[in-house]
Amino acid sequence: MACMGNWVCFGCRITKRRPTWRRVTYTRPESIGMRGNVKCQQCSKLMYFLGPTIQIPPKSKPKEWAKLYDALIEFRQEFAKKHEIGKVKLRHELEKAISELEQRGYNKEREKLIKEYEERLCRHT
Ligand SMILES: [Zn+2]
Repeated sequence: MACMGNWVCFGCRITKRRPTWRRVTYTRPESIGMRGNVKCQQCSKLMYFLGPTIQIPPKSKPKEWAKLYDALIEFRQEFAKKHEIGKVKLRHELEKAISELEQRGYNKEREKLIKEYEERLCRHT
């Protein structure tokens, strides 16, 4: 079901509402804080997507906007860190799986599996 999400310009403290998914904050957290194709009507810079759940301060409160911006940057950094950790973990798991298969000696099934893992390894690193 569609609901309204907020797009903001931090410079002008302008908010635009556009339809989005209700659960986008949970299903695609990486989209929070991204800039899409919505432009600010005042400065025509690309606006930041904040999703449907983040509270937007009133235009008259620049300090709260600054706080929101800091929180957003922090959220993006945390997310990037977690994502990076996830990638490293996955790579280690795949490398371990490959070397275990190799140690058990070759047969057709294992060769296929090793190839599959190696392809995933390429995609994820
Ligand atoms: Zn603007």
